[in-house]
Amino acid sequence: MSSVLKDLADGARALQRIKQDLSDVQFQEEILNLRQLLVDAQSEIMERNQEIDNLKSKVKDLQTTKDFAEGLHSHNGFKFESKDGEPFGLPFCPACETNHGKFFRLVPPGEKTGNTYKDRGKKVCPNCKHVYGYPVPTFPELEDRG
Ligand SMILES: [Zn+2]
Repeated sequence: MSSVLKDLADGARALQRIKQDLSDVQFQEEILNLRQLLVDAQSEIMERNQEIDNLKSKVKDLQTTKDFAEGLHSHNGFKFESKDGEPFGLPFCPACETNHGKFFRLVPPGEKTGNTYKDRGKKVCPNCKHVYGYPVPTFPELEDRG
C-alpha cells in the first residue's frame, strides 16, 4: 500500500519537473502510468477494506460466542444453558468447545445422528458424532419445569 502511494507521489513530482521539457507524447505516457498506479492503489484499498470487514465480522462472532459461553452453567465437566441461574436440558459437547470453540447441544442417539438403538440412553454430539456414555448430567427442559 505505502509503496504504491509513494510511487504515486514520486510520479506527481516527476510530472511537475518534466512538464516543461517533455513532448506531448511523453507527457501523455506519464499520465497513463500515473492513472494505472491510481487504479492499482484503489484496488489495493478495496482489498484492505474487505479484509477489515472480514476481521470485524470475526471479532463480532467471537464476542458473541464469548458472551454465550460466559452465560453457561458448568456442572460435572459439562456446560448447560441456564435461565434465572437454573441450568436446563442437555449439555453442550465439551470436545467441540475445546477443539473448535463451538457449542453443539448433545442429543439422544438416533436423533439427527442415525445411531442405532444399542446406544439408547447415551448422548451424541450432532457435530462431531462423539458418543458420550453414562453419566451425562441432564437437567429438566425449560418447558418441563414445574
Ligand atoms: Zn462435538
